[in-house]
This record gives sequence, structure tokens and C-alpha cells, in this order.
Amino acid sequence: MNKTYIIYSTILVTVLLLAGMLIGFRIDSNKTPGEDTAVNKPMVFSAVKDVKVNDSFWSPKLALWSDVTVNDIFNKFEGQYDEESRRDLLNEYKKLGRTRDAFRNFDIVAQGKRGVGQPQHEGPPWYDGLVYETIRGAADFLIQFPDKKTEERIDAYIDRIEAAQNSEGDGYINTYTMLAEPKHRWGTNGGFERYQHDVYNSGALIEAAVHYYNATGKTRLLNIAVKCANYICKVMGPAPKLNIIPAHALPEEAMMKLYWLFKNNPVLKSKISEKVNEDDYYDMAKFWIEYRGKHCGLPVWNVWSQAECEKWIKDNTYSDPKYGNHSRPSWGLYNQDSVSVFQQKTIEGHAVRATLFGTCVTTVALENNDPSYIEASSAIWDNMVGRRMHVTGGCGSFRYEEMFGPDYVLPSDGYLETCAAVGSAFFSGRMAELHGDGKYFDAFERSLYNNVLSGISLSGDHYSYENPLIGEGVERWNWHSCPCCPPMFLKIVGELPRYIYSKESNSIYINLFIGSEAKIMLDNGQEVLVKQTTGYPWEGRIEINIEPTTKKEFTVKVRIPGWAQSSENPYGLYISKVKSGAGIKVNGKKTALNITRGYVNITRIWAKGDVIELNLPMEPRFVYANEKVQNLKGMAVLASGPIVYGLEKFDNPELSSYKIDINSPVNMTYKNDVLNGVNIITGKAFTGKGAEVEFKAVPFNTLNNRMPGNDFKVWVPVQE
Ligand SMILES: [Zn+2]
Repeated sequence: MNKTYIIYSTILVTVLLLAGMLIGFRIDSNKTPGEDTAVNKPMVFSAVKDVKVNDSFWSPKLALWSDVTVNDIFNKFEGQYDEESRRDLLNEYKKLGRTRDAFRNFDIVAQGKRGVGQPQHEGPPWYDGLVYETIRGAADFLIQFPDKKTEERIDAYIDRIEAAQNSEGDGYINTYTMLAEPKHRWGTNGGFERYQHDVYNSGALIEAAVHYYNATGKTRLLNIAVKCANYICKVMGPAPKLNIIPAHALPEEAMMKLYWLFKNNPVLKSKISEKVNEDDYYDMAKFWIEYRGKHCGLPVWNVWSQAECEKWIKDNTYSDPKYGNHSRPSWGLYNQDSVSVFQQKTIEGHAVRATLFGTCVTTVALENNDPSYIEASSAIWDNMVGRRMHVTGGCGSFRYEEMFGPDYVLPSDGYLETCAAVGSAFFSGRMAELHGDGKYFDAFERSLYNNVLSGISLSGDHYSYENPLIGEGVERWNWHSCPCCPPMFLKIVGELPRYIYSKESNSIYINLFIGSEAKIMLDNGQEVLVKQTTGYPWEGRIEINIEPTTKKEFTVKVRIPGWAQSSENPYGLYISKVKSGAGIKVNGKKTALNITRGYVNITRIWAKGDVIELNLPMEPRFVYANEKVQNLKGMAVLASGPIVYGLEKFDNPELSSYKIDINSPVNMTYKNDVLNGVNIITGKAFTGKGAEVEFKAVPFNTLNNRMPGNDFKVWVPVQE
């Protein structure tokens, strides 16, 4: 990155942020749906093991990812990658004489090496965390696709992780800190947690352990995680313990998962070598959320230089008694630490941290039903979806600090990291769980089908970090100096089956349209087998079979997506219209479409053989941005169902001068032989010379597969 560019973008972002604070953030609250501050009874998602996916769109992908992608990511963490894939990795290769190996870090820690300097540690300080995240994703895949080899591979990794932890003895494990700066645990005593990622790594370990236990019933990784969690609970917390919060959100949700695991299965405690007091984990998660914004107020990020801030922290200045006896440095807006989350009204800072932090706050709200948590998570989510999310579900407009921009600033060349889209989908998933409102699944689908899926190549072994809406030379990479996106991608697709169905006392929710079957146990003891058959997202017909073991009255809630009701976005950030609406039939009889909070409720006495038929209007539609988005005036995007489309130069030679004709009809055809089978949208466009041509659009998530680096556009100027 060129230095002038950094300076210009820093100035631009600062000006925009200040302008946003003065004008944008004060315009009004966009919490139109006030009901979301109310305490609701959360819906319960199915467990991954209770859902079997059998779907023409998803099944081939899931099979590819469980085999090719899981192994590819592990191989590359072991150092088996093309060292010339990126220039920065090539430089590293020249220095090391080989590619970097994440597992070697655990081995040399296990050998007792400490303080041997950063070059002895390979990869960034958060490399441990990325390995754990991959184990978590792979574990969920093991549930869907049992695979002895992958399980043995993970068990062998666990041996090495365990040996590293045992070499220290008190539960602490962070290979970077142990090898490079062992006196700076958790960033204390002159360390710098924002770089070290100690708490984040530990959280990822805990989460991996819970998922691996759920997948295999094995407790060895769980033992390691409990030791680590107990150590964290011993040292961090209200005074006199240390005031330490994660400098990257994620551990808060991990602690909740550990808490729930033991709360719901107390017998499991007897299989753990350490004493388990699950309430400590819950208290830790709450502490980490409630102590955001509780610090000494310094350094002043974005005013002082990065180097000054770092020095101030490393000099341990915050431990001066004048800052109190429980002080710590501020991690600033970047890490959602400038104010308490309970005062925060907008989603701010580093987009992956921000979306995961929203996820964590919502996760705790599921347990405590505390109105302040519910209000805080709603405010942040509403702002994200209503003003700061790209049409592809992408989050984080700016490369500078990989951060969210102000309201309505949605540049086509936005940064839009794959991890941030995954984070926003996790956030939307937790919000759906808390509120049972379909709008959260609208956002979940938008992220999933667009900015998440674009993160991986059709071959399953190339990945994107950035997912801009306009491309010149954008390519997926083989491996990256910071390969955070492949594990995040695995995490969400690995647990995709859990989002399809949920229940709330005696109601069943159909959230996603994915061919599958699930057994759902209602609170009244009724077991129901639900089966979906569909060609979605290429076709709009969805058949849902409801099979209770005995005839019984209950409610089936079928989600009707916003776009199918000409409500592209719940707060009008995007606007579109479908000619025909959705239609629903029960046993062939048309049913009134009374939609409450995004779902049609069908209450009746259900019996074996009952069928719901849902028809969604998949006709291609033009989507426009709210007029407050200055740079998208006079532009449109093509979409069909949840899928956003883009135009590649490959199909459209004069793309740079195209204006699409929104008054001519557009057609959509399924092409079996293109991009593994996709719908293609065609219509009329005018070139710069005024010639009328046919444009061809393909799904955004498949761009750059046929000719990597080919120019593309998602927002295209329209000919009025
Ligand atoms: Zn990433």
C-alpha cells in the first residue's frame, strides 16, 4: 500500500467520521421497529446433528468444502502452500528457507522454549486462534460428513496443543507470547494485547473445544479449554482481578458456549480433570461486555499516532496510580471500546470485531434477557443493516483499519472482508434466535449467498479477503499472510444446517429454504419430521412436508423474505419491487398470506402427509440504493431471490461504458454448463457510443472464477 494513499484515506476517514458524528449519528434513531427492545422468548435452533441437508445447491458445495477445503486449510497451516502465492509470503520464504508452519509453534513451546524472539514464532500472533477456528469449522463438518482421517488429523493436532499447554502448567497457552514476549501475558507488563491477541486465541480454543466435543464426544480438547478458561477466570474480572477485555471480540461467545455446555449437561463435569464452575464462564462473558469503555481514557486513538499509542501502552503508563487500581488502556473505537456498548447507537470500528461483538452481546442476551443488552444489540444491528451494509451483505467500507464507515457511505470499491460478512451473518443469526423475526434471516441470507460465498473459489481452495463491488484485477488467493477468512468461512458453512429450522414452544420455524430434513421435538412432547424439497435459490418453489408422529395442533411458521414482499431492506436502505408476490398452499389449498414479523403462521391440526407449498417470486429485479447513498445515484443492481448479480467484462466487452436499460425486459435462464450451474440474467444495455447490446450477469458469488482478475461491476449506471 502506498504511503500517500494511507495518508489520504486516513484524512478522508477522519473527516467522514467527524461529519458523521456531528450530523449523521444524530439525525434520528432508525429503530422504527421498537418491538425489538422488548424481551422475547428466544427461538431454539436445531442442532447440526439433527438436520440432514439434501439440496441441489448446497449439498455438492458442502461435500467439496468438507473434503477439499478443510484439508486445504489444514495443509496450508502446516506450511504446504505455494510459497510464491503472495509477495509477502515469498519474502518470508526467502528468510525461513521454507513455508511457515503454525504447528511448529506448539512444538517448540512444548520443548520448553520461551522468549526466543519473534522470528522463532511463525505467522502472526493470532495464528493459534486461526488454527482453533479451523478445528471448530472442521468439527461441524464431521457431524455432517463423518471422516476418520480428518478426525485423526485433529486428534494429532490436539496432542501437540496439549503438550504445549502442559509445558507451562497453569492453563495458559499462547505460542506467540510464550516464544516472543513471555512476560507480557494478555498484553500486560509492557505488552500490547491488540497485537498479541492472547484473549482472542484463548476464546477460539474454547469454542473449538465445545464444537469438537459436540461432534465427537471426545473430551481431551475440552480439558485443555477448561484449564485455559479457569485460568482466565482466575486472573481477569472486577478488582482485585485484572481489568482485561478481549482486543478482538469472540471469546465472550466462546465462554457462553462453554457455560451452556456444562449447564445443560452437568454429568460432563465428572469427565473433566479440572473443577468446572460454569457460572464463572458466564460471569466472564458479562464482564468482558460490561467493561468495554471502562478504562483510563487513554491513549487517544486516531488523534495520537499509532506509534505513540503503542508506546504509551507498552510503557505501562496506565498503571500509574493516578488512573486508579483497576485501570487499563482504552482500545478505542477500533475495538468497540470508546464507550460502553449500552451507550453505543451505531456499529463502529473494525468490522470483524464489531460484527462479532454484536454477536457476543446478543448471545449473552439470550441467557440473561436483560433489556439493556437487548436494546444495545438491536441498536447496533439496526444501524448495520439499515445504513452501513452493502447490497451483497458486505460490511466494513474502509480499508483504513478495516472499519465501518459512516451512515450511507457505501463505496463500490469498499473493503468488505469475507470475515466481516461472516461476522454479520453470525450476528443476524443470534438476533433471529433472540427475536424470532424474519428480517434477521433476510440479512443472514444476503450475507450468506453473496459476500460469504464469494469468499471461496468454485474449486474450494482459493479465497478472497476483500469482496468489493467493482473489480479491476481482483483475484482470490492461494494463501495469505493473514489467512483469517478461510477459517471464518468454514465456521459459518460448517454450522449452516442449524439455521434452517428452529422451534419456539409449540411452533416450528422454517427459516431457510434448503432441501433437508430435521426431527423437531416440540415442548408438548410431539415429535415432528420436517422435510424440504426445493431448487432454491435458482427456483422459487419450496415443498415442505410436515410429519408429526401423531395428529396434533401446532403452528408452522414459514418465512417470507422481505424481497418477496417488495421490501428489500427493513429500513429502506435498498429498494426493489417484485411484480408477483409470494404464494402459499396447504395440501393444495391457497392460504391467506398474513405475515407477522416476517413469517406466515399456519396453525392447524397437522397429520402425516400434510404438505406446504411455498412459491417465491424469483423474477429478476432491479435494486436501487436509498437516495442518501450519494455514490449510488443513477445506479442499479440486478438480483433474483437472495442472489445479487454482477457483470464481468468476460461476458460484456464494453462494460466500462454500459448503461443498462431498466425499461426493457430482463430474462433469466438456468445454465447447467456455466459456473457449475447458475441462473444467468440477460437484458439490454447501451454502450458509450449509444449502441444497444445484450448484457449478461452472473451471481456475484461466482465472479472471478472463469477468468480471475477480470473486470466486473455490481452497481451499473442505468439509462433512464
Ligand atoms: Zn478475514
